[in-house]
Amino acid sequence: MAEIEDIRYLKKAIANSRKSFEEGRFPAGGIVVKGGEILASEVNVPYPGLFHADSKAVTTAFNKVGSLKGATLYVGLESCLMCISVAYWSGLRRVVYAVPKSKVSGDYYETHKETGELIDNFNEPIERIHISELEDEAIAIVREWEKKYLLK
Ligand SMILES: [Zn+2]
Repeated sequence: MAEIEDIRYLKKAIANSRKSFEEGRFPAGGIVVKGGEILASEVNVPYPGLFHADSKAVTTAFNKVGSLKGATLYVGLESCLMCISVAYWSGLRRVVYAVPKSKVSGDYYETHKETGELIDNFNEPIERIHISELEDEAIAIVREWEKKYLLK
C-alpha cells in the first residue's frame, strides 16, 4: 500500500504529464519533493530536446538546494536511463512512478531493457516505487498522445 503523501505528489506529476500533452509535447511530468516541500514541478521539453521533465525537475531542485539526498522524484512514466542517472548524480535515491516502462514502447526509452537491469550496478541502490493505483490514469494520457501523434 502506497503512502498517502506519495499518492498526492504522484497525482501532481501526472497532472504535469497532462499539461505537457496539452502543450503538444510527450506526456511526461516530474516533481521533486524533499522534507514535504515541492522543490520543482516540470513538464516535458519539446522533442528533440535534452532533459526530459524528470531531469528538468531534478536539475531545478538541485540548483535550489544542492544535494537531493533524501528527496523523492515523482513521475507519471518510469524514468529513462538519462533521467534516472541525473537523479542519481544529484544524490536522490527514491523514485515514485505510476506507469512501468514495460507498459509502453521501449522505443520511448531508446532501449527495451528494464531500467532496473541498467541501473542496479550503480554503487548505491535507487529505491523505485510503482504505485499501481494511479497507473490507469497515467497511461490513459500516453494512449491519448499515441492516438494523436502515432496512429494517424
Ligand atoms: Zn528521461
